[in-house]
Amino acid sequence: MKKRILLLAGGQSGEHEVSLMSAKSVLAALPRDQFDVTPVVISKQGRWLPPTDTARALESGVSAHGGDLVLHRAASAEGYDAVFPLLHGPMGEDGTIQGLLTLAGIPFVGSGVLGSAVSMDKVMTKQVLASAGVPQVAWALALRHEWRSTPDTVRVRASNLGFPLFVKPANLGSSVGISKVNSAGELTAALDLAFGLDRRVILEAMTSYKPREVEVGILGNDTPIASPVGELQFDAEFYDYDTKYTEGRATMHIPAPLPDSVSQRVRDIALTAFRALDCAGLARVDFFYVQETGELLLNEVNTMPGFTTTSMYPKLLEAAGISYSELVTRLVGLALEKR
Ligand code: ATP
Ligand code: MG
Ligand code: MG
Ligand code: MG
Repeated sequence: MKKRILLLAGGQSGEHEVSLMSAKSVLAALPRDQFDVTPVVISKQGRWLPPTDTARALESGVSAHGGDLVLHRAASAEGYDAVFPLLHGPMGEDGTIQGLLTLAGIPFVGSGVLGSAVSMDKVMTKQVLASAGVPQVAWALALRHEWRSTPDTVRVRASNLGFPLFVKPANLGSSVGISKVNSAGELTAALDLAFGLDRRVILEAMTSYKPREVEVGILGNDTPIASPVGELQFDAEFYDYDTKYTEGRATMHIPAPLPDSVSQRVRDIALTAFRALDCAGLARVDFFYVQETGELLLNEVNTMPGFTTTSMYPKLLEAAGISYSELVTRLVGLALEKR
């Protein structure tokens, strides 16, 4: 019998549009002889859109108003064999939807509550990975209330890391709300921006060299595999939103032109991180490689990475010999096996 799959897309985060693009690709690729797929778009207001509005949103990228509370609909999604929550960022990739589906007893693709929540929060990720011996940049946490009540303490914390530094909302993706801060004078704007999006903000040191950016895909549950390593090259100060999503601004090199020993370290550290964070199903693990010093620093773990047919994660797995449609099929299999 065909498996009934509920594909969730859109969502309330700043990565709504990115999710819609990914969902279109997955929808087209899930083999119809094995799966009956129902897409549902969650609007930016967090509402579960009915089929006609969902179809329109997938087509045009624009979500209608109205719809039902996700809380009510997800809990009654019992008719499905599995859910593919193709949502990025808060209220999708952060354990919230995963908790709801867990309560409802419906298997779903990807990490559970713990792995999703810890991996979404860049500060929590850093703390867990530090205890697992994973190399990372120096960093500090700042809370919104500190920035409002004692901004100078936040400025000191930032200055201690040295400039340039990165300021990021702790729980977001697609570089939304991230700034590269070159001097103390640029701190206020960067912190205002990040605190406008999150209560928790991470301040991150930067190495004195512009690092190379390498990524690896992980697939599996308790016995995961690591893909070949890929590298991103772009002509911008950092890998910001426009560089990520404007056609032709960045190029992916798979496999990355790196010594074998470095690629192997990337894969080993990524698998260590996947296990330490209790991830499941899939993850794309991002690193900085400082060629001048040989340093390899783990940047972050994305538990629901971009998933169009040209996104890095599926391309990495393709290099491992797993086609896009085989990949989505395997992910559903891993969701069912996880129970
Ligand atoms: P994703 O879309 O991969 O989920 P994200 O929004 O979670 O991205 P990061 O990957 O943490 O954001 O950072 C985005 C980009 O900013 C990186 O790819 C890199 O170009 C730059 N960057 C972030 N942190 C640092 C750092 N500490 N040092 C140097 N560059 C950095
Ligand atoms: Mg990320
Ligand atoms: Mg992300
Ligand atoms: Mg990243």
